[in-house]
Amino acid sequence: MKAIKIIEPKVCPFCGSPIIRQLEEGAHIYCSNLNCSERKVAKLNYFVTKECMNIDGLSEKTLRKIAGPLNINSWYDLYDKTFDDFVAAGCGEKTALKIYNELQDSKTKAPAENVLMALGIPSIGKVNAKKLLETFGSIEEIEKCAKTTQVDLTQIVSHRKGYDIINLIGEVAGQNVVDYMNNNSEELQYVYKYLNTKYVSNAIASTDKLSGLVILATGTLDNFSRDGIKQSVIENGGTYASGISKKLDYLIVGAAAGSSKLKKAEEFGIKQISEDDYLKMIK
Ligand SMILES: [Zn+2]
Repeated sequence: MKAIKIIEPKVCPFCGSPIIRQLEEGAHIYCSNLNCSERKVAKLNYFVTKECMNIDGLSEKTLRKIAGPLNINSWYDLYDKTFDDFVAAGCGEKTALKIYNELQDSKTKAPAENVLMALGIPSIGKVNAKKLLETFGSIEEIEKCAKTTQVDLTQIVSHRKGYDIINLIGEVAGQNVVDYMNNNSEELQYVYKYLNTKYVSNAIASTDKLSGLVILATGTLDNFSRDGIKQSVIENGGTYASGISKKLDYLIVGAAAGSSKLKKAEEFGIKQISEDDYLKMIK
């Protein structure tokens, strides 16, 4: 088979602005003009896809039709529109009702990991979005971490914003999240206003041995991976915490646990237990 050479455009075919090229995780090219109408449509179209917010009534064709008349510049402009607005923008009544209902439903139906994906942060697809939410528990907590300066343990003396995020999903994707969270406060306010931001685990409790207890593990455990221990706590009826707080009942301390976490736990008077203690609790 002969390879087809694709000639990459240097300027946006729609508005003539220069093209920006991003190389990681598949080459992304996009228009540099934030006000380019095609760029806006492409972003909206991604937001409503099945993998993200799953708003079935809003096809690319419909988005193109209503974006201008309804002055929709960002996804959140869709959420304060009424049925009448969609009709006025040229949608039939049936379509208008469908779009309106699907948008309202998506507020509670789309899980937080889909919401995080829908924001279109480069290299944040399903896997990274889920990883972040499993670890931090909510988009609010991810933002908080992204705005906190932490010690970069790989650099020993260097401090950087959102180190835990970068450490979790890697340098490039992690930095993209940190940059996004630091530069999009307005958009984030709409995320918190309209959409699901808390992670809900699929794990289901099968015993109540840890009922009413909030537990967190730190360091390396012999019998559990990081996700595994979380799964185990939930399966036994407990709650797995997203970080050290006064609400925590037990901190399971594994090998090479971070000293700052242990110090914080001590300050809060949280009971520290070994992995063996934990295994006895769920026996
Ligand atoms: Zn353009």
